[in-house]
Amino acid sequence: LSRNLDKNGKPYQRFRTPPPCGTYAGYDYHRRQALEDPCDPCRQAMSLHWQIQRLKRGDIINALRNKNSHHIQQKRKAAMMNTEYEKFNDADMFERWGYLCHICEIEVDITIPQRDEKGNYNLQALHRDHVVAVTRGGGHTLENVRPAHAGCNIRKSSSEWTDELKEKLAKLAQG
Ligand SMILES: [Zn+2]
Ligand SMILES: [Zn+2]
Repeated sequence: LSRNLDKNGKPYQRFRTPPPCGTYAGYDYHRRQALEDPCDPCRQAMSLHWQIQRLKRGDIINALRNKNSHHIQQKRKAAMMNTEYEKFNDADMFERWGYLCHICEIEVDITIPQRDEKGNYNLQALHRDHVVAVTRGGGHTLENVRPAHAGCNIRKSSSEWTDELKEKLAKLAQG
């Protein structure tokens, strides 16, 4: 998955004509189709969109608060690698980082299940990405774990690193 390709691997062409600025669609158009930085009105529209989403998604987030099955596994892994471990849940992560995939900066729809009906992994589903991998000394901490699309996370951890991605990750690692 790339931010300028659609799910069939074709160039992203959602819009025949550019949507008006100051809209959520405008933001999407700038980022994914025109491949340019969104203008201020579009950024503001996006920010408002997320404020509304946070209100709408209260129930889902509260459900996630109680889901902590992966804590034990992560704690064990951190102990094994001798890296930092902090207990937090998805709700804490969204509060800290919002809902944008930290790799492609496009919304992660947290209602998408990890696997589809056929049992295949959904590349659009939420992954909790360790910015610096635990195997490279990164901690399981709120600072180091950020929302990502499964597909983006897989792409990041594979050898298909783009220069743009490397640059972005280097910046993130510097804080
Ligand atoms: Zn705009
Ligand atoms: Zn992504």
